[in-house]
Amino acid sequence: MDRRKVLSGGGAAAVAALAGCATAGAPSGASRTVFAVAQPTLPIVGTSEVFPVRRIYCIGRNYAAHSREMGSDPTREPPFFFQKPTDAVQIVPPGVTVDHPYPTLTKNYHYEIELVAALGKGGRDIASDRALECVLGYTVGLDMTRRDLQRAMGDEKKPWEIGKSFDRSAPMGQLQPAAKTGPFTKGAIWLRVNGELKQNANLDQMIWSVAEQISKLSRAFELMAGDIIYSGTPENVGPVVSGDVMEGHIDGLPDIRVKVV
Ligand code: MN
Repeated sequence: MDRRKVLSGGGAAAVAALAGCATAGAPSGASRTVFAVAQPTLPIVGTSEVFPVRRIYCIGRNYAAHSREMGSDPTREPPFFFQKPTDAVQIVPPGVTVDHPYPTLTKNYHYEIELVAALGKGGRDIASDRALECVLGYTVGLDMTRRDLQRAMGDEKKPWEIGKSFDRSAPMGQLQPAAKTGPFTKGAIWLRVNGELKQNANLDQMIWSVAEQISKLSRAFELMAGDIIYSGTPENVGPVVSGDVMEGHIDGLPDIRVKVV
């Protein structure tokens, strides 16, 4: 597909900027890096290729009932976003229970089950009716949260960073190609802990769809291939402790299983 088609408003200047970004990761001049920094990647199911992760965007309070349980009014709030570091990714292969270390500093460690979209194309000012053309693949993710620290920082009007953006806070499955799965606008999304159903909703209850999220994000940031988006969690978030096994499900995607250790 011609990637220029996903740019609705930028015209030639935006295309030039996008083309320029394609080489942004290449070595510049004769300089060599003093040491190597690992590039986090996600396996792409059915291929020998991996997806290099550039940025991880997460939307807040994107299901009305979850927004209410967090103390907000879902009818009035525009979407808002935060980021996790790319090396927060913890890959959860299908059929495997992955050990997930309980993080430091928290006494109230929460799960949030979410649909994750991974972009194979980017742009600025992307129209929502073209936005899904940017999605290369989807998977099931957990937006793990030190809820006590997130709340404490929020109460003090300080950044959420320590509550949301820490090591291994982004467990997720392998990428399933969008060309095979199609879009995710409805379907069950649930999370079990030790076999007990904790979160149970439908993707059609999102306040802002994945397409709308891409469109909104692209007005604030230039999106690029490699960006991934956590699309929000439904209600009934809650705590896990060491020994708990979380099972995450979205219709049309392989389940993920994560054990807190
Ligand atoms: Mn979340």
